[in-house]
Amino acid sequence: MSSGRHDAPFTQPPPRLGNQYRDDPLLGSWLRRTLSLAQMRDFEPEIDELGATVGGPLYELQLADRLNEPRLTQWDAWGERIDALEVTPLWREAERLTLEYGLVATAYERRHGPLARVEQFAKVYLFHPSSDVYTCPLAMTDGAARTLLESGNTRLIERAVPRLTSRDPDRFWTSGQWMTETTGGSDVGRSQTRAVADGDRWRLHGRKWFTSAVTSQMALTLARPDGNPAGGRGLAMFYVELRDAQDRLNGIRVDRLKDKLGTRKVPTAELTLDGTLAELVGERGNGTRAIEPMLSVTRMWNSVCAIAFMRRGLALARSYASRRTAFGASLEDLPLHADTLAMLEAETWGAFLMTFLLVELNGRQECGELDEQQGALLRILTPLAKLATGKQSVAVTSEVLESFGGAGYIEDTGLPQLLRDAQVLPIWEGTTNVLSLDVLLRSGFAAGLAALMGRGSAAVRTVTDPRLVAAGRQAVAALERAALWMDAGQDPEVVQAGARRLAMTLARALQLALLCEHAQWMLDNEHDERGRAAALRYARQPVDLLHEVDPDLDRVLLKKGTFSISAG
Ligand SMILES: Cc1cc2nc3c(=O)[nH]c(=O)nc-3n(C[C@H](O)[C@H](O)[C@H](O)COP(=O)(O)OP(=O)(O)OC[C@H]3O[C@@H](n4cnc5c(N)ncnc54)[C@H](O)[C@@H]3O)c2cc1C
Repeated sequence: MSSGRHDAPFTQPPPRLGNQYRDDPLLGSWLRRTLSLAQMRDFEPEIDELGATVGGPLYELQLADRLNEPRLTQWDAWGERIDALEVTPLWREAERLTLEYGLVATAYERRHGPLARVEQFAKVYLFHPSSDVYTCPLAMTDGAARTLLESGNTRLIERAVPRLTSRDPDRFWTSGQWMTETTGGSDVGRSQTRAVADGDRWRLHGRKWFTSAVTSQMALTLARPDGNPAGGRGLAMFYVELRDAQDRLNGIRVDRLKDKLGTRKVPTAELTLDGTLAELVGERGNGTRAIEPMLSVTRMWNSVCAIAFMRRGLALARSYASRRTAFGASLEDLPLHADTLAMLEAETWGAFLMTFLLVELNGRQECGELDEQQGALLRILTPLAKLATGKQSVAVTSEVLESFGGAGYIEDTGLPQLLRDAQVLPIWEGTTNVLSLDVLLRSGFAAGLAALMGRGSAAVRTVTDPRLVAAGRQAVAALERAALWMDAGQDPEVVQAGARRLAMTLARALQLALLCEHAQWMLDNEHDERGRAAALRYARQPVDLLHEVDPDLDRVLLKKGTFSISAG
């Protein structure tokens, strides 16, 4: 019999974000391990304030801004081609915060010398997941500053670097990086853009197929000076300013904005260059080598953005697990749900430690502090961290969506965007396969491998806790097996086919070694057992991914057969 009373329908409390600095035990402990007490006292108020902003007002603005996208207006009402771009309100706020917190500038101000990169990327790590990938133009801006500085071109350094690294809204510039053409992004040596001499400058003619952040004031790009040979060595690196003093585009047409799976707030355009005035940055060739500093920097940003998405996904998933009940218990108290979240935590801790090792080495290199072995470690770590964390980020954010059940699939929770945005990380700045080959086939691999093994073994040697010692042994064994696999005089085809598994094994083994090292530090210095739990949980995931590689088997499986209809 009905009581006549209507029970209020159940409503699910949404996940909540708190101060993202205070809620992250790993970031805090790693900073305390790396910075001196005085540096920490100086730095912590700033990062604490940013942690509150990104988990509070910026996150709320991001949710409110969900449906806004950048807009391209190609023509004005009177038939004039204008190609005007309007970005989203969140992006405008993201620019303001970039300048306030010096998200590019910190690296160049070097308040704490070689630790400047650590401070910069601790801030970027907090900022990125609330920024709708405003970090994309920032990565290229940072990359352009470093590339120009390394080019030695004094005129361009004086003109652009103070703007790229400024905190002043009236001076600040961002930069694009225009490499990919329809002929290829990985195989960029096939680029077709021509450079025609025009006095002491050049005119560029061609199409650039993917140009993110086309709102930038400048770009570094590749083109082939007339008369140069085919291939990557025939390309040269050019400096372009997009608009003149009257705000007219410099021989550039924005053909369209791409309709993308994710990074939808980033205006990624297809451009036609039709007599674009450009300056040669360095020599008249070897552009692919000249632009390498840009790639080193953007790959580091990519790795930081990957771990930042992982941390954000987990912050939301863990909040939800404490607010949602099923089968009479909080999700966080259901053993299998807890085990799933713990696995995601362990992956995130491992990826974080590898990424911040890369960040720290970069800062030290820029201050001339690296010895030869550390330099070799930095070179191998740049592609390794990018390729491993890109994959981890997609896996973790995918699992995060599932941890919300159906709600994880619903757009106005803001959750699907996490996975969509993470999916770009393994693609741009070099795909997983291309970077695996880069690790393996570029000169210096032997020195890089030796440096990696040295760093992994040194990390494990600091460990005294018996359970960590066993996990550390597992890491070193995987590194040794990877080295043996390379030494086995494999057929070149087998080496190429196995490159991804080798790269992943090296990355995962290093992550485990660094987890053991940090766990021991946390036990000894902070009596905190969470690091050990992360290391031991990580050790139960696959670390050594090498197994027999058989290109013949691949060929059979991928063979194109003739289709035959069974009946008759
Ligand atoms: C949202 C977005 C924004 C972007 N923004 C920019 C930008 O601002 N500037 C810019 O220059 N580019 C940009 N790109 C382009 C991006 O860098 C390229 O798409 C990427 O480098 C891959 O190149 P591709 O598309 O030509 O793929 P391809 O090189 O054709 O690769 C196709 C597949 O083949 C594999 N492959 C290729 N070569 C090998 C090999 N030797 N061995 C094994 N496998 C191989 C790849 O791993 C991939 O799976 C952007 C891309 C996206 C998605």
